[in-house]
Amino acid sequence: MNTRRRKVAQPLEHVVPSQVFKSEVMVWARRIGVEPKEIRLRQLKNKWASCSSNGRLTFNSEILRQPARFRAEAIVHELLHLKVPNHGKLFKELVKVFLASG
Ligand SMILES: [Zn+2]
Repeated sequence: MNTRRRKVAQPLEHVVPSQVFKSEVMVWARRIGVEPKEIRLRQLKNKWASCSSNGRLTFNSEILRQPARFRAEAIVHELLHLKVPNHGKLFKELVKVFLASG
């Protein structure tokens, strides 16, 4: 996911702890029906998240300062790549369906 989409820094009190973020990812993973091998938070230069072919998800640690809705969008996007590796029609439909349910 590209960083150009949004970058609104939140006040410090709105930063979510990384463990809370990781449990958000796990809740979504269960809902979507995927099992990420590992969830990591790192400083990434030009993206919000990436997903390796072996199921490891890496999120930009800046995401902890983003609003809940934005975190959900990034999480759903990345988790769905464990099902659909591209950004085709099916991918976009699934993103829509899951975000509408959450
Ligand atoms: Zn993507």
